[in-house]
Amino acid sequence: MAALWNGQSVHQLRLSEARLKRLTDAVAELLEVRDEAHGVYKAEIGRLVGRDPGVLELGHWPCTGSPIRLCMYDMSTDERDEECLFCGQPDERK
Ligand SMILES: [Zn+2]
Repeated sequence: MAALWNGQSVHQLRLSEARLKRLTDAVAELLEVRDEAHGVYKAEIGRLVGRDPGVLELGHWPCTGSPIRLCMYDMSTDERDEECLFCGQPDERK
């Protein structure tokens, strides 16, 4: 039995809704997998640099001294450091 709305078939609309839901669910699952992989990545960085991965902020500036080839900052509250752990440059390159 086809679903109707004001006498019009909504079959195609229901198919589109189902497709959107499947894609939304797939994206959510991929984001979870991606977050898990990012956690593993940050844990490995933390192990390499001897810091809690939760306080490390990964920068965007190239850095030859860093194991990730990008600047890295310690954002812990008691040791907040606005300079890269490896090259000493500030995040903003003031
Ligand atoms: Zn750096």
